[in-house]
Amino acid sequence: MVQAKADGFPAGLFTPKESAAARGLGARDLEDLVRIPPRRYAAPGPLRDLRHLSEGEDISVIVTVERTRERTMKNRRGTLLDVRVRDDEGESIQLTFFLFKAHLVSWHMSRLREGTRVLVSGTVSRYRGENQIAHPDYVLLAENPSAEEERDIAKALEPAPVYPLRGSATQKLMRAVFAKALRHASDLREVIPAAIRRERNLPSIHEAARLLHAPHESEDVERALRYFRFEEAFIIQSIFARRRAQDVADSAPALATYGALSRALDERLPFQLTPSQEEVGEQIAERIAESHPTSLLLQGDVGSGKTVVALRAMARAVDSGYQAVLLAPTEVLARQHYSTITTMLGDLARRGHLDAHEAATRVRLLVGAQKASERRESLLDLMSGEAGIAVGTHALLTDNVDFLKLGLVIIDEQHRFGVDHRRQLRMKGPGELRPHMMVMTATPIPRSAALALVGDLDSLTLKGRPREGADVSSFVVPLGDDVWRERMWERALEEIRAGRQVFVVCPRIDPDEAAEVGEVEASGAPPVLSLGIDHPLHAVTPTLETLRAKPGFEPVRIEELHGRLSSDLKRERMEAFAAGEIDVLVATTVIEVGVDVPNASVMIVLDAERFGLAQLHQLRGRIGRGEQPGIAFFATQFGRGSAQHAGLTELAGTTDGFALAELDLERRGGGDLVGDIQSGTSVAVRFLDVGRDARMILEAREDALVTEALARGSLTTSSLEPPTPGELDALDAAIARHSTRGVDDLERS
Ligand code: ADP
Ligand code: MG
Repeated sequence: MVQAKADGFPAGLFTPKESAAARGLGARDLEDLVRIPPRRYAAPGPLRDLRHLSEGEDISVIVTVERTRERTMKNRRGTLLDVRVRDDEGESIQLTFFLFKAHLVSWHMSRLREGTRVLVSGTVSRYRGENQIAHPDYVLLAENPSAEEERDIAKALEPAPVYPLRGSATQKLMRAVFAKALRHASDLREVIPAAIRRERNLPSIHEAARLLHAPHESEDVERALRYFRFEEAFIIQSIFARRRAQDVADSAPALATYGALSRALDERLPFQLTPSQEEVGEQIAERIAESHPTSLLLQGDVGSGKTVVALRAMARAVDSGYQAVLLAPTEVLARQHYSTITTMLGDLARRGHLDAHEAATRVRLLVGAQKASERRESLLDLMSGEAGIAVGTHALLTDNVDFLKLGLVIIDEQHRFGVDHRRQLRMKGPGELRPHMMVMTATPIPRSAALALVGDLDSLTLKGRPREGADVSSFVVPLGDDVWRERMWERALEEIRAGRQVFVVCPRIDPDEAAEVGEVEASGAPPVLSLGIDHPLHAVTPTLETLRAKPGFEPVRIEELHGRLSSDLKRERMEAFAAGEIDVLVATTVIEVGVDVPNASVMIVLDAERFGLAQLHQLRGRIGRGEQPGIAFFATQFGRGSAQHAGLTELAGTTDGFALAELDLERRGGGDLVGDIQSGTSVAVRFLDVGRDARMILEAREDALVTEALARGSLTTSSLEPPTPGELDALDAAIARHSTRGVDDLERS
């Protein structure tokens, strides 16, 4: 056993500089370090001769230097070093170096003397009709071939890991760090039980570490990646398996009563429930009637009518003698839910008032910015049980909020709440009882991604939209095209003149800031379509000013809304917009989730390629909610033929959010989707791609479930050997390690 030092690495292994470099990558110890993959591998092209070269080809070739020539460049600083070389077949090629430092020129000249044999690797390019290799790598060889040289050549042709560099670390330093780490690879703990590794044909961890950081050939890297992907999937699935097992072991109140409140609510619903709402309602009712806590994920596209489904479940909780809470990601949304729910309930929400219905309960709002007296009343009602239903934001999660008998927790917009939040609420149940939990999301999660990232939840899906008819047409607007751009604003004006309202969404608040700030930042969705663009992005404030000065817009009432306004101001603006006192709201994605203004008919998204497809789909869901059909404009600087334009065009042509998510997954892999969901799941994904690795994730899930069951003794016969105590211990450690890694990874990505 190696002794661990204060820096987490074996004593005396690293110099202070190396230790700093390792920690700079986020590694706390060797276990972390070996699991940091190289960014890529510098793989020299295959060894060949110089005949029949094609441009762009990566090659390696053994040549002899014929002559070198130094030229100063006319128009640029620096020196050109030309080296003419010839292979054994008599073919020749020119190597070219552009050098800015005199000492480098003499260094290369001293090594590349006439007659010297070298192994050269690089990419073939053409210059003035001739093949050349610019800036090749080269290794000096002995005058005559030998066994030792064979080894040197083989070594030079191996893929060389290229690590991410932080601070002042160099590639050479990083390689030294990993080379040293590999010396201790035999101390690494096996996370995957031996029986599973055998069955899945996976190497041991120390073999995998060697294959990843010191591969002999590209197949080695493949084998290493297969190991690390599986290991990651296995850890995540083990976390899910344990949470599920915990749910089975815990007790929950059985919310089984369809009573007076539920009956009265159903009687006064202003619409007929859709078949899907009925069906999903039944499924939820069944699950919360169980005496073990249930963990559900309710997926339903924007506008599919999740709120009423949630309210009906909450009514059951109240009928069963328990309380229910609905959590929203933003204050705007929490207030809107509060008003929707109190409106739908009417006198059913007025318990204690003279005009209350006999089955009435009380609904309480709890948000961060709230009058102290109002907050106190809410807290009292939750503690005494007077309020059967609470609606709020994170404010509900603080320690001083106590429920008398919390039986059901519903979280709207899952990806903005972490698992920690979920757990915190779970602990607010009465005594030993844990409340049931349901998270609702409009971000459609394809099945493979759901298994990989939220596999501890059982998924239910709400299909269709209750109100067909008010359709949204989508258009992609190339901002570089004056006619298109002006037509877009003209169209917005027409709608405003007809008494309707317009959203304009920008990716920034200020022109020079990095990102939207404030409460919505948790959405943190990486811009999915932005590929190395460098034009100024639209920002809220300048866009507001431009619009106010725009001919035709003089009578138009335009205001801004973003996360940096005080929450009072935000609420005022949102309410004013909802009341029709503002015509155009220039905003960030603050407005993305849930906001319901039926009179809004136009959604203009500027620099639309900066947003995720799922996010754009959500934004589009803000309009067409009333009688009027909606028009969504996705405006982009990118012209036809660009990948960005193409992505937006596909979005414009698809109205099904689930299809869009599958499309996202197919086209760009799971990375972006993961970013969306991950911030809410606390499972960190580094090696896995939920699209590509779907099958492996299923296998890992199977293995994790069996391992968990074998460990608990709830499964006694299996083709798999039970894990040893040592193996379980190592898995425990890996799970603990993984749970603390998520946040780091997100910050680094
Ligand atoms: P989301 O799933 O996006 O949260 P909401 O719950 O906000 O959707 O519902 C969208 C709109 O559809 C709301 O105005 C709601 O009142 C309405 N709605 C919900 N269910 C029905 C239904 N069965 N028939 C008609 N309208 C409905
Ligand atoms: Mg909603």
